[in-house]
Amino acid sequence: MTAKIIDGKQIAQEIRAELKSQVQKLKSQGITPGLGVVLVGDDPASKSYVTAKERACQEIGIYSDDNRISADVTQQELIALVKKLNADPKIHGILVQLPLPKGLDETEILLTVDPAKDVDGYDPVSVGKMVSGERSFLPCTPHGVIQMLARSGVKTEGAHVVIVGRSNIVGKPLAKLLIQKKDGANATVTVWHTRTKDVAYFPSQADIVVAAAGRPNTITADMIKPGAVVIDVGVNRVEDSTKKRGYRLVGDVDFDAVKEKAGMITPVPGGVGPMTITMLLYNTVESARTAAGL
Ligand code: NAP
Repeated sequence: MTAKIIDGKQIAQEIRAELKSQVQKLKSQGITPGLGVVLVGDDPASKSYVTAKERACQEIGIYSDDNRISADVTQQELIALVKKLNADPKIHGILVQLPLPKGLDETEILLTVDPAKDVDGYDPVSVGKMVSGERSFLPCTPHGVIQMLARSGVKTEGAHVVIVGRSNIVGKPLAKLLIQKKDGANATVTVWHTRTKDVAYFPSQADIVVAAAGRPNTITADMIKPGAVVIDVGVNRVEDSTKKRGYRLVGDVDFDAVKEKAGMITPVPGGVGPMTITMLLYNTVESARTAAGL
């Protein structure tokens, strides 16, 4: 059996088209959703993420206020910038690109972001609301995974989902979202991490495996049940001298072998990645609607 490929680019395009028409509607009511972006320093990966986010904003009509600042900015200057964005009525969402350069206190900066503009969904207020099932900004990558499953017709209700990884930005929030008592969730979730015993047992029992470990080949074909759905969140650089840049991107799943056993699978690149940015745009549009009382 060869798995059906879940095309993240296509699903992201569908959602972006929906958002574009919502933005047009909002603009006709005099509201332009705005995203304030803060990039500190020259990290190439962060720069390319931020550029992709800015391009995506342009594509659907979101106003983007780009703040690219030098790595020698002080904590106080950065806090002042975030406060300025908090107070700016043109801005409905604030994105501080992580990681920040050494010497800056990330937690303090993130806690300065107004929870009403926390479109990344990292703020403790957003996290608390998410856990208790209240309306909140959902963290972008886990929300992207939920959307991919739903829009690919994968039923999570009653399914056993094994998540590999327990980070605050992927594994933990995804587990919390999938156990909610509501449509698109209602799953039974096992979270697998580096202290888990008998690691191969859990994915072999899973209807859905989500890999977010940040290590190539964490999930191999022998670990999964025939027909399982496999979502690969991982993005890893592996050396490849045939590529101009000297590396290629792979996920956490041994894609070539696993696709022969799984029922559905996401590729890397072109899987979860495009969904993450799209859900950031989604939260920004939601925030603009909420601010306008819609
Ligand atoms: P992270 O903070 O490094 O967390 C990795 C988690 O995986 C940890 O909980 C770790 O366990 C667990 N883990 C690592 N190796 C493992 C193994 N062999 N077996 C079981 N568990 C293992 O990473 P992250 O920020 O969640 O990101 C994970 C991956 O997703 C990375 O490749 C990242 O680049 C990618 N990512 C992609 C997107 C996207 O948009 N596509 C977004 C975010 C992240 P312990 O807690 O026990 O150490």
